[in-house]
Amino acid sequence: MKSINLIFAAVLAAAPAAMGQALPDLGDVSQSEMSPLQERRFGEGIMREIRTDPSYSDDAEITDYLNAIGNKLAAAGSDARQEFNFFLINDPQVNAFALPGGFIGVNSGLLLTAQSESELAGVVSHEIGHVVQRHFARMLVAQKESQLTSLAALAVAILAARANSQLSQAAIVGSQASSVQSQLNFTRANEQEADRVGLQILEKSGFDPEGMVTFFERMMRATRFYETAAPSYLRTHPLTTDRIADMQNRAHNLPYRQVPDSLEFQLMRAKIKAAQDSPQESVAFFENSLKERKYLSEAATRYGLVAALLRVRAYARATQELQALRKSVPSSPIIETLAAQVYTASGDNATAFQTYRDALRKYPAYRALVYNYADMLLRNRQPEEALKLVESRMQYASADYQLYQLQAQCYAALNKSLQQHRALAESYYRLGNIRGAIEQLMLAQKSGDGDFYQQSSVDARLRELRSVDSEMRKEGRDKR
Ligand SMILES: [Zn+2]
Repeated sequence: MKSINLIFAAVLAAAPAAMGQALPDLGDVSQSEMSPLQERRFGEGIMREIRTDPSYSDDAEITDYLNAIGNKLAAAGSDARQEFNFFLINDPQVNAFALPGGFIGVNSGLLLTAQSESELAGVVSHEIGHVVQRHFARMLVAQKESQLTSLAALAVAILAARANSQLSQAAIVGSQASSVQSQLNFTRANEQEADRVGLQILEKSGFDPEGMVTFFERMMRATRFYETAAPSYLRTHPLTTDRIADMQNRAHNLPYRQVPDSLEFQLMRAKIKAAQDSPQESVAFFENSLKERKYLSEAATRYGLVAALLRVRAYARATQELQALRKSVPSSPIIETLAAQVYTASGDNATAFQTYRDALRKYPAYRALVYNYADMLLRNRQPEEALKLVESRMQYASADYQLYQLQAQCYAALNKSLQQHRALAESYYRLGNIRGAIEQLMLAQKSGDGDFYQQSSVDARLRELRSVDSEMRKEGRDKR
């Protein structure tokens, strides 16, 4: 029986080179249901591809916000063993999608289109519904062997549909991807199940269940008018009047609940909006909103204005608006991060340093503050200070590949070549790039510096990763 990795190879050979070749070896999954571990590995493989795409964003603030709300929702789902990771795609199209293994992507366009946090939570809950009901595994087991290509093509199709900015790329795969698209889509029953589970999750986690209904109703109305340019969400989650009616019935039977949006939700939307248009357009947009009082949150609108003013380098005004903003809301790490950026950009290093130090005392785990401050220290030739900051965070966030990247930059600035490559290796390892990690460890061996202890540690780590690598390759061969 053909193993799925051969099919991957065939499908991916036809895909654009940019999509890479590194989808994981799954062994033979055609005979039984995919195990949760296989599903997770498959998802990790797709994530490695997605991270190399220009539309993928690792913005620490928005990513952390999405994970905060996503994990709160997931905790209300039933399966506590399922791990979830939420990530941002910079794409104005309204879309959200689940990958096998609990990886859930949210387009920036969805954040801007959602009129309330409950609406956003509704769409995310629906995706969580697909994951906890294990629709990927069930889709696979329902397929005959001849149709197994669909799961492999699913990776390609998701990547192609998502890479909206590169329409030509999508067109290349389009021919292959669309021919299997119908088999890839979740069934209508899957969609209704995800709606049902999503609605329960929404209600259990304290959001307004009506949020899901109002969002899907708006999507439905949009399709009527823009038949050809239907939001990409609808291509992967076909909406029917049945589905909407079902949702309406269920939601209306739940107690009415008015849930105020969090400040974080409004601030993250303003952040996306402020970065989206041209700098001048952004300033004009937020100025007008404030003048005409056309906003859901005055604080978030002012935050957006400061971010836009930063883009046009109007630092004096940005500082002024910042002071007004700080007075109007309780202290927030999001606002302090922007404040430090304003002071840094305007050349007021003393105030910027002070802002970072004060904010980090209050919010030591806030990633954007840690990354930005380390970066500023590096640019101001204080690599020892930067290293101290980065390593103090590593104790609490040992899986954070970005901390290892910063650590590598610190060692580079300190001319410590062995440790620089060692840190890069750890960063690659955490991104699932074992080969890249091995390469860096070999460079570390050749670096010609480092003490005996460090050299032995590199040797030991290299042996360890080589054995992981050969183990993974062997698994693939045996199953073939
Ligand atoms: Zn769906």
